[in-house]
Amino acid sequence: MSAYWSDLVHRLTPYVPGEQPKLADLVKLNTNEHPYGPSPQVLAAITAQANEGLRLYPDPNADVLKRSIAGHFALQANQVFVGNGSDEVLAHVFMALLKHQRPLLFPDISYSFYPVYCGLYDIAHETVALDEDFAIRVDDYLARDCGAIIFPNPNAPTGRLLTLAEIERLARGKPDVVVVIDEAYIDFGGESAARLVDRLPNLLVVQTLSKSRSLAGLRVGFALGNAVLIEALERVKNSFNSYPLDRLAIAGAVAAFADQAYFETCRQRVIDSREQLIGQLQALGFDTLPSAANFIFTRHPQHDASQLAARLRERSIIVRHFKLPRIEQYLRISIGTEEQCATLVSALQEILKAS
Ligand SMILES: *Cc1c(COP(=O)(O)O)cnc(C)c1O
Repeated sequence: MSAYWSDLVHRLTPYVPGEQPKLADLVKLNTNEHPYGPSPQVLAAITAQANEGLRLYPDPNADVLKRSIAGHFALQANQVFVGNGSDEVLAHVFMALLKHQRPLLFPDISYSFYPVYCGLYDIAHETVALDEDFAIRVDDYLARDCGAIIFPNPNAPTGRLLTLAEIERLARGKPDVVVVIDEAYIDFGGESAARLVDRLPNLLVVQTLSKSRSLAGLRVGFALGNAVLIEALERVKNSFNSYPLDRLAIAGAVAAFADQAYFETCRQRVIDSREQLIGQLQALGFDTLPSAANFIFTRHPQHDASQLAARLRERSIIVRHFKLPRIEQYLRISIGTEEQCATLVSALQEILKAS
């Protein structure tokens, strides 16, 4: 606290990211990064841009990247917005499209950045409880008076997927409000709602290159939607930072979309590891929610989740535990390499045996 601070800063409750410990040899399964590196073509494209051209500002509109993303999703470039990670894209979405008289709705268990943005921008909001199996019930949203709706699909930290048909039913049932689908994990098991945006003017889809394209360190996210929604985001962006994507990020992101074969191979490896891990944990007595993401949400009926997380940490394995109502007995575990998954399973075997 300080008299130098604005009133707003006194009131903020900032987001706390998963820790990034600076230790070597950690099995880091806490922040849903991709276990395999980015495409070699991405690294080559970034290296090629690391030259004297860096003295110049990047393209403020990142047009080549917008065209490449638009091509990938069979959309027009004016239906694409790009930003410095999807967290920045989401920040602009909250300010541009989710602040209204009536409250914004999101699930009671969801991405914990949403209430933080609401605090930053003073956005009225209410949460909608997931059902007892942690699924989103579209009817609960349709029944509520609201100014806008946002949720991740698959949801985080549950990993549960909502079908495209349900998303379409929601957007059609609430034509006067913006519905935002945060698809940070969609490539690991779902179908993107991007193909609905031509038909649904109130639907905005947000994606990131941080998870499925293994570029969390590059900071590139984007939104897809009707050109009118995108224009709102451009207005906020151009009132905030003209150059959110640097030259290296633009080049790397374009190369990531160009190397589809590498992307497919790596995401399939993660999906295969996830299904294998769920089976191995089941054999140890864990209950795991069905996951369409690159993480699982799991609990053991006989073992306290925070204890399990502590025992894993003693073995240099870091997983995420949220001390929050309804989910305090769950662990969120990112899918690592095949080797990391094997290390995790044998550690859990030992921990369960020892207690
Ligand atoms: C990781 C994540 C993001 C943020 O991704 P960045 O592009 O790295 O900022 C957004 N939404 C959800 C649900 C996430 O899990």
